Amino acid sequence: MINVTQPYLPPLDEFTPYLEQIWKNKWLTNNGPFHQQFEAALCEYLGVPYISVFSNGTLALLTALQALDIKGEVITTPYSFVATAHSLLWNNITPVFVDVDPILGNMDATKIEDAITEKTSAILPVHVYGNPCNHIEINAIAKKHNLKLIYDAAHCFGVKENGISICNYGDLSILSFHATKVFNTFEGGAIVCHTKEMKQHIDDLKNFGFRNETTVIAAGINAKMNEVQAAFGLLQLKYIDQAIAKRKHIAEFYTKELSNIPGIRLIDSYQLSTINYQLPDNCKLITHNYSYFPIFISEQEYGKSRDQVYEELKTQGIYARRYFYPLISDFPMYSHLLSAQKNNVQHAHRLAEEVLCLPIYPDLEQVDVEKIISLLQK
Ligand SMILES: *Cc1c(COP(=O)(O)O)cnc(C)c1O
Repeated sequence: MINVTQPYLPPLDEFTPYLEQIWKNKWLTNNGPFHQQFEAALCEYLGVPYISVFSNGTLALLTALQALDIKGEVITTPYSFVATAHSLLWNNITPVFVDVDPILGNMDATKIEDAITEKTSAILPVHVYGNPCNHIEINAIAKKHNLKLIYDAAHCFGVKENGISICNYGDLSILSFHATKVFNTFEGGAIVCHTKEMKQHIDDLKNFGFRNETTVIAAGINAKMNEVQAAFGLLQLKYIDQAIAKRKHIAEFYTKELSNIPGIRLIDSYQLSTINYQLPDNCKLITHNYSYFPIFISEQEYGKSRDQVYEELKTQGIYARRYFYPLISDFPMYSHLLSAQKNNVQHAHRLAEEVLCLPIYPDLEQVDVEKIISLLQK
């Protein structure tokens, strides 16, 4: 059986010394030594000024909205994992969906201004599949209308634009270290921010709002990363470049073999053979992480629907995934919203109907990649 992804795990014996250290420290959570080391190592690896690590990405999203005191309405995208919009509902905020561009599936910056009302307080875009949003446009709109800007960067571990981490854009960026992501700590997540004060505020919020023993600054939550996760993250960092290089190799092979099949579209950015490619939108140099390999199947041209291909692969033991189908806006807690109606999010609907994310992970065997390709070529 071949799944869409398989978590990368470092050699088990290399983790034992970390566990022995934790047993010696008897400091299991609450900003322990590994937690501190992990945050420092992440700042260095990612090239970001401040980071606060979390027990998972969803709690990081929830806390980011609290940290900026976001209320009312937030402009977001229907083409994402459901946690993006759920974080708004959990904060009593109304999501306002805008459509995505038809190529990358990122929020269409030209549609944002029409969605702004008196109640709008923030924009929450997603860098889908690790492809950067048009952050220059989006930032200009946020500034013009005095809106906060939070990026769901769950797919973006290590992604850079012209050498700068994509997580440096916006007021805050959220990462996920879930088992299915490029970089995992089993479960985990983080918020990237720009100032020491904001990091302190976020650190307080993830620990019930405690500033010190006797002061509670807000109704915070418990979203702390524990020492086992943090130690594991430190070890994972030693292998991440290797893991991404293996993904790159697979992505390039898929690209080479699938580029000329009528009815199958790849994301343009993958069509260049070096790690740096030109984004069609803004022509910036991107260092990718090869987190996903989405293809888009046009039933008319290919002769089979995406769902037919999905089912056929399954019968061969290949579990590709339809990220992101169904759209968030079609789930029952969102579908009543005016902005969730199909005519407002047409591009997102088309992508959701056509997308199939192919298996890609460091230990995926070449023979399996070839098998998937030959099944698609038939
Ligand atoms: C994975 C993911 C999340 C949630 O992260 P968890 O760590 O699983 O809570 C949020 N947004 C997007 C876009 C994701 O892919």
